[in-house]
Amino acid sequence: MAVHLPEAFRERMQAQLGDNFEAFRAALATEPPVSIRLNPAKPVAEGDVATGLSPVLWHPQGYYLPERPVFTLDPVFHAGGYYVQEASSMILEKVLRQVFPRQHPLKALDLSAAPGGKSTLLASWLPEGSLLLANEVIRSRVTILKENLDRWGYSNTFTSSYDPESFAGMNGYFDVVLVDAPCSGEGLFRKDPDAVNEWSVDHVQMCSSRQRRILAAAVKLVAPGGLLLYSTCTYNEFENEQNAEWLAREQGLTPVELDLPAEWDIVNKGLGYQMYPHLVRGEGFYFAAFRQMRGFGFQGKPQRNFTKLIPISRKQEAAMSDWLEDADKFFYLQRPDDTVLMAPASLRQDLLTLDRTLPQGVWMREVGEFKGKDFIPAHPLALSIDISSDLPYVELDRDLSLQFLKKENLILPDAPKGWLLARHRGLNLGWMKNLGNRMNNYLPKDWRIRMDIREV
Ligand code: SAM
Repeated sequence: MAVHLPEAFRERMQAQLGDNFEAFRAALATEPPVSIRLNPAKPVAEGDVATGLSPVLWHPQGYYLPERPVFTLDPVFHAGGYYVQEASSMILEKVLRQVFPRQHPLKALDLSAAPGGKSTLLASWLPEGSLLLANEVIRSRVTILKENLDRWGYSNTFTSSYDPESFAGMNGYFDVVLVDAPCSGEGLFRKDPDAVNEWSVDHVQMCSSRQRRILAAAVKLVAPGGLLLYSTCTYNEFENEQNAEWLAREQGLTPVELDLPAEWDIVNKGLGYQMYPHLVRGEGFYFAAFRQMRGFGFQGKPQRNFTKLIPISRKQEAAMSDWLEDADKFFYLQRPDDTVLMAPASLRQDLLTLDRTLPQGVWMREVGEFKGKDFIPAHPLALSIDISSDLPYVELDRDLSLQFLKKENLILPDAPKGWLLARHRGLNLGWMKNLGNRMNNYLPKDWRIRMDIREV
């Protein structure tokens, strides 16, 4: 399927690639590779995802699939067993490994995070004890970001929705700031025809200026010694090299030279690196890494209380050990609407800081709600990697799993009474409650599969 390239784009790429332009154009006429990244915290047996997987060279959990399946009809996908991610962007893991070879806890901010591809990559890579804040300014995109992070299951991952400038009170706080910037999307032309239609010389210019505004806010947030990681899925110098040079020259950041094997065919662009679809098995992607060698660290005062959240009672806290593998590792807060939230106890002071400094705080993982003596577990708890392994469950085959994910009430005559986890290939899909005469399905309405599962 040939992509019709805008004239001005074609001329620019011819100038950029010279003799290699034809190979580039030919690559755009081929099917885009399909790739997934497995969740190391939710292992599944080989063959449970797909057959014929081949590894992505630059990511230990990255795999290509021989063809594109209907991911919506794979319960393992809904359980957070893997994330469908374009292969080139998985390179960021290599960058992180090189910049932080030693494993110590880090505070990371993904400033433009929706739908969550790079945030889930970060969550899996970050050393034990780290904190990740996944931020997305566009409100309508936050729902999918939260869903994907709930699926991924990590309790150290929080969400927010701020304009990058609203983080000003957090200057010098984060060890890693990722700016995976909104861009003109030239690298996605093969996958996404809308990107071709939206492309224009003016749009590129607009993207470049917007990126500088985002980067100017981002630079200040990086702690001394920390990393600013800039990436786009585009090729032009206005959004890539010129912004990288501006970061080094005007913002005083120190470029990090990366050691990338020559056989990966990633092109060194001076301060950054470019992946092209005629050279790698993936889409177009640009990335550049910088160290903040100047400035001051965050100077926040220790805080005692959250603004709108209150601790749960001791008795309720004790009850959490029925639901979590190691309940003492967490602290619990209650929202004004009674929803109970959890976060790692080791991050309490950090969450207080975020809560007190950011106008609306951050979203934490929902675990459920106490109703009198009863606890009603929430969906994100079912998907949490910290859930107790002793809870009753029913292992469902693919058809029953899809019925569960369609939010149908299942008939399971031999199932134990009470709260039950619906499980597929060892991974939790959500909650059911067996009342004896019927089995209620607690999958949130918005999470249900909308396509017809029987006709495919
Ligand atoms: N990092 C995401 C991932 O890996 O799944 C993809 C991010 S996408 C390339 C860029 C994101 O920037 C979009 O979600 C978009 O809504 C967001 N965005 C748009 N305008 C922005 C702005 N002014 N500041 C920060 N982010 C913005």
